[in-house]
Amino acid sequence: AYSLRQREKKVYFEIDELQDDDYLFCEECQTFFVEECPVHGPPVFVNDTVVAWGQEGRAQLTLPEGMSISPSQIPKAGLGVWNEAKAILKGVHFGPYEGEITEEEEAAHSGYSWVITKGKNYYEYIDAKDEDKSNWMRYVNCAREEEEQNLVAFQHHGKIFYRSCRQILPGRELLVWYGDDYGKELGIKWNSMWKNRQEPKDDCYPCPCCNIAFTGKEYLEKHMKRKHPSRYV
Ligand SMILES: [Zn+2]
Ligand SMILES: [Zn+2]
Repeated sequence: AYSLRQREKKVYFEIDELQDDDYLFCEECQTFFVEECPVHGPPVFVNDTVVAWGQEGRAQLTLPEGMSISPSQIPKAGLGVWNEAKAILKGVHFGPYEGEITEEEEAAHSGYSWVITKGKNYYEYIDAKDEDKSNWMRYVNCAREEEEQNLVAFQHHGKIFYRSCRQILPGRELLVWYGDDYGKELGIKWNSMWKNRQEPKDDCYPCPCCNIAFTGKEYLEKHMKRKHPSRYV
């Protein structure tokens, strides 16, 4: 559950009656909303292509129209998801992330899982390592640095969704990073999961100040210089 405390004033609903993960976020207004943004209307969701659960190669077959799965621009990252058709506007939602639900901590090490907060200190994992029991979102790689990120991962109604945080032009790879509020609350859990998602693919350089890990020393240095200038020597 992420904290809404600092943004409470801008939310037009009674906080007490709602779960933290009932909220969606408007990228234009930079505020949370429940059913629709008072200014920009209802949220846009892109549907997966419908494929039976357990069908061979299901994950790739669920890819929405206008995208492709092909080698990533990130060295050693394997496959990635690319936008091939028209530009994806800011604030478009994808998901939910599909996989097998488990409480086993082991799932955190598959490199294809996300953690879901079910309550205080109660977590589940959604593990997409099986390509027959998951969807296309398993192929979306993690951004190496903030400039590269065009999707934010967040929890909504107990599931993981991705939201475009900037326009994604045709020919660009979709690259995800987790939301700030969400990451902070989960702290170490996210940090270790983040490392696991990166590890099989490349080296890992965690930031000593916040819950972010980078796949290259140069990216970490750039981040330190910009976000923690006092710690940067
Ligand atoms: Zn709005
Ligand atoms: Zn940092």
